[in-house]
Amino acid sequence: MQSGSNDPFELEAMTALRRDLHAHPELGFEEVRTSAIVAEKLSEAGIEVHRGLGKTGIVGTLKIGTGTRRIALRADMDALAMPELADRLYKSETPNTMHACGHDGHTVMLLAAARHLARTRNFSGTVQFIFQPAEEGRGGAKAMLEQGFLQLFPVDAVYGLHNMPGLATNEMAVVVGPQLASSDSWTVTFKGIGTHGAKPHLGRDAITAAGHFLAAIHTIVARVVDPLQPAVISACALDAGDFKALNVIPDTVRIGGTARAYTPEVRDQLEKEIGIVAQGIAATFGVEADYNFLRRIPPVVNHPDATQRALHAAAAATGRSVVTDFPPSTAGDDFAFFSAEVPGAYVWLGNGPAVDGALHHNSRYDFNDEAIPTGARFWTTLVEQELPA
Ligand SMILES: [Zn+2]
Ligand SMILES: [Zn+2]
Repeated sequence: MQSGSNDPFELEAMTALRRDLHAHPELGFEEVRTSAIVAEKLSEAGIEVHRGLGKTGIVGTLKIGTGTRRIALRADMDALAMPELADRLYKSETPNTMHACGHDGHTVMLLAAARHLARTRNFSGTVQFIFQPAEEGRGGAKAMLEQGFLQLFPVDAVYGLHNMPGLATNEMAVVVGPQLASSDSWTVTFKGIGTHGAKPHLGRDAITAAGHFLAAIHTIVARVVDPLQPAVISACALDAGDFKALNVIPDTVRIGGTARAYTPEVRDQLEKEIGIVAQGIAATFGVEADYNFLRRIPPVVNHPDATQRALHAAAAATGRSVVTDFPPSTAGDDFAFFSAEVPGAYVWLGNGPAVDGALHHNSRYDFNDEAIPTGARFWTTLVEQELPA
């Protein structure tokens, strides 16, 4: 499987591997087969492999020359718990499991780049290739960091890449600042004094308090957050009383929802202000409020220096102008945990037109193999520019 200069990324083999991974998707922290293949392909190329960081995570280390700068490149490996509905030769063979976000492509592009860099050795410094488990809401990045990623593999910068339908497969978008929103959960439990529905004056009505709270939380984004800063607060669950007891005012009402922001400051503000409204409404109605805000994923905010470096590499790798005004997404990515620790940049690589309108997490979505050379070239160019020989 040696490849010459006209096939720097072993395209035939890597395309076959991408389709093999697509046919054998694995959920977060269950990427046993995938990570074994990754580890084998890295070792085979002479790259040092650390297995089992964050359960099924893999880190490949390639140190060349005397350069002191160290960078990390991150790919995610997990699939989603959903059925694949499109018919294709390499359709998922695992029930209700599907690579509907293109992480099969991310894995292969980073592998192709790592193998190329190990052959050509045209840089000086250290590259850590992160093959992360469980990006889709199961906490893979956090697990790798909690198990000492930065202590074991200290780096000066970290880069991530995600496929994006709508951009051409030889096109990239690299934008400074917020890319993906924070994704946090909150709950409020109003505790009153339950009583007969006919005698509200004998209790303390948590339901009425909850009604005022639901209306009042929308004043946070409208009246408290800077109008030029995007933010979302939504109540998404409500639990109180019993439809079989419509003459009973219940003791408690539980409300839960999501909060999203693009900056750490607005995120802090949402956490604080939801609590202020909950406690204020509770005081008004003489009930109590228990408030919890669960920080799940911070926003992905591209660092100016790392973004500039990624931008140069993207321009050189694609040979065309890079999109620099691509709008942020309200989705989240736990790459944010890495880029919260060291300067980071998260870039978009085109996946071609959305086939049959299928976007990320659609049961017909597929990574476009034509993007493999662009993605692999972006990674190798970034390393060679970042860590000049
Ligand atoms: Zn996804
Ligand atoms: Zn994804």
